[in-house]
Amino acid sequence: MKETLQQLIELQRTDDGVVALTARIEELDAQLNGARAALDEAIAGVEVAHHAKQEAQATTHRFEMDLQQAEAEINKLEVQLNKASSNKEYQGLMLGIAAIKASNDKLEEQILLSMDATDEKERDEEAAKAGQRDAEAGLRAAEGNVEEERQGLMQELADMRTGRDELAARVDPTKLKLYDRIRGGNRKSGSAVVAVYGEYCQGCQMAVRPQDMVLLTQCTEIVLCRTCHRIQVLDT
Ligand SMILES: [Zn+2]
Repeated sequence: MKETLQQLIELQRTDDGVVALTARIEELDAQLNGARAALDEAIAGVEVAHHAKQEAQATTHRFEMDLQQAEAEINKLEVQLNKASSNKEYQGLMLGIAAIKASNDKLEEQILLSMDATDEKERDEEAAKAGQRDAEAGLRAAEGNVEEERQGLMQELADMRTGRDELAARVDPTKLKLYDRIRGGNRKSGSAVVAVYGEYCQGCQMAVRPQDMVLLTQCTEIVLCRTCHRIQVLDT
């Protein structure tokens, strides 16, 4: 029985190793996914900033078109002014021109403001592009770091699984089945074999009954904890 228990302990060590390696690989994958998500977000940010800049440019363009149109209108009125046949007509045209010029002053002010806004949007876009470059560099670095470690871990994991299969093949099938069942049922802690130390089960910290202590000492059969139902091994 001692040999079987030793095998089960070794099996558990291997299974714990597989769990730890798998967790580390998942962690690396999460790092990569995080870097990819950051890049996606940065690219989306550039698109938003680019769109905002285009809108600001379009607004400036619209104001400039309005100004051009108004200036053409002034030119037209000035031609009419030269041909004015009465003082009244002349005065009317002068008023019209003055009104357009006043509104053009406002338009010019709006154009300046809109150009400032466009400059700001351009700076935003540049900042967003810099953010994208950083995210790209971050992803490349993550890929560089992770890829090598990941490959090594995958190989280690494959070797460990092969070792596990070889080990499991040597264990008495009934005991192996028991081990797998307990381990499968204890997904949280994962352990199927626990030490008994100072007459206490180290799996659940409960005292072991004297008759079980005798069985553990004799080591002729598998002893299961009466509380946590794991395979107990005397820790001497
Ligand atoms: Zn226990």
